[in-house]
Amino acid sequence: MSDTDSDAVDGAEPGGLRTPIVAVLGHVDHGKTTLLDTIRGSAVSEGEAGAITQHIGATAVPLDTVSEMAGDLVDPTDFDLPGLLFIDTPGHHSFTTLRSRGGALADIAVVVVDVNDGFQPQTIEALEILQRTGTPFVVAANKIDTTPGWNPNDGLPIQTTYEKQSDSATSRLDENLYEIIGDLSDEGFSADLYWRVQNFTKNVGVVPLSAITSEGIPDLLAVLMGLSQRYMKEQMAVDVTGPGAGTVLEVKDERGFGATVDVVLYDGSIRADDEIVVGGLDGPIITEVRALLQPRPNAEIRVEKRFDKVDEVRAAAGIKVAAPELDDAMAGAPIRVVRDQNREAVIDEVEAELAEIQVSTEEEGVVVKADTLGSLEAMANALRESEIPILRAEVGDVAPRDVAVASTANEETHRVILGFNVDVLQNAESELEESEVRLFDDDVIYQLVEEYEGYVEEIERAQQ
Ligand code: GDP
Repeated sequence: MSDTDSDAVDGAEPGGLRTPIVAVLGHVDHGKTTLLDTIRGSAVSEGEAGAITQHIGATAVPLDTVSEMAGDLVDPTDFDLPGLLFIDTPGHHSFTTLRSRGGALADIAVVVVDVNDGFQPQTIEALEILQRTGTPFVVAANKIDTTPGWNPNDGLPIQTTYEKQSDSATSRLDENLYEIIGDLSDEGFSADLYWRVQNFTKNVGVVPLSAITSEGIPDLLAVLMGLSQRYMKEQMAVDVTGPGAGTVLEVKDERGFGATVDVVLYDGSIRADDEIVVGGLDGPIITEVRALLQPRPNAEIRVEKRFDKVDEVRAAAGIKVAAPELDDAMAGAPIRVVRDQNREAVIDEVEAELAEIQVSTEEEGVVVKADTLGSLEAMANALRESEIPILRAEVGDVAPRDVAVASTANEETHRVILGFNVDVLQNAESELEESEVRLFDDDVIYQLVEEYEGYVEEIERAQQ
């Protein structure tokens, strides 16, 4: 395989409908990861080799494969979409739904709700984000295999199974599904079981399914296709060859490349020699693409260590961008290609978007990490109320560079990382041990603040 093995990756023909970007949201443990894995797994087994394209941070399932997976429910001749692009990072609520200024990164969303557990705080958080960004969505009422009333039906669409059930006395499954529909209505959405919904951009379809047995997944794919087709047409065709625009999902050090950004490109194209503007912790970073990297085909999906270089990527696609100066790039921030437009105008746009997603910070203070932009904002507010200064606030797990940043603080009380609902990356653990940096982590904000305040008092007492 040559070093550069492809001219353009994915996206659509110029002037056509581009691949819709699908985000999977929902409360922890309700089955987001399992659903994505099952869809990816059956796409791999249904499709010809290479039928699904692995992207950085996303999986593209082409129309033909969607159609094979959905059986009779999706006729490919009914659609002029290239397929569906699923964002792989289900934890990152706000990234996948938030592209500040002008709507959501994801075009459409799947909200996963455990049919036995019902609405939970992150379900409501997800719905609020979708409502705010005007993103159409469907609800996957997951884990029906664990609910009394489920009647496995040899892979037939759940609709058949379900209606059979509803002839008999009301089951737990019926009750739970209607509770979800009622809860959606309390949140301001008109919802119904999907086979009663006519227009999925206006009414929310609820698809009962099991991410484990796959029953109902054909139905989910059919609903997603119908919704996408309608929604993408409403959005009009995009020019997937114009200067690219995307959102940074993650900033990662990559051996041989230094700091890189994993990006979902939602508009236009990015090329290997483009000038780019990337949102950074201290403002826009202006640099040039050194390489565009895709995971090597057939490499384990979750192991992104082996890359191929590509010349160009067209929206919608996930891509790793290697470029100088990306150390301070920020997850959740915009990335823009400068090609024919005025560079200053692009920088201004990036600055304006950054202002919307950035937590204001001080010269000296603690480092804050949180799992979502929503919780980061809540953390920042709580800290501000307690007059605790913030040096840096970012979404994502605790990384080595957080330890490095925290260790530069002059005051002992500021050599601290406050982590809300985040993990510590493996290579950050040893750095934490060797540093003077203290990590406090909790999944309740006020407890986290109290723990930190207790620590500050302890230090102050010792210093008196
Ligand atoms: P996430 O936190 O939303 O990504 O949830 P996961 O996908 O990690 O799922 C949480 C747990 O629920 C795991 O133990 C899964 O195996 C289980 N699970 C997910 N979907 C289903 C399902 O459809 N049926 C059953 N029985 N278990 C499921």
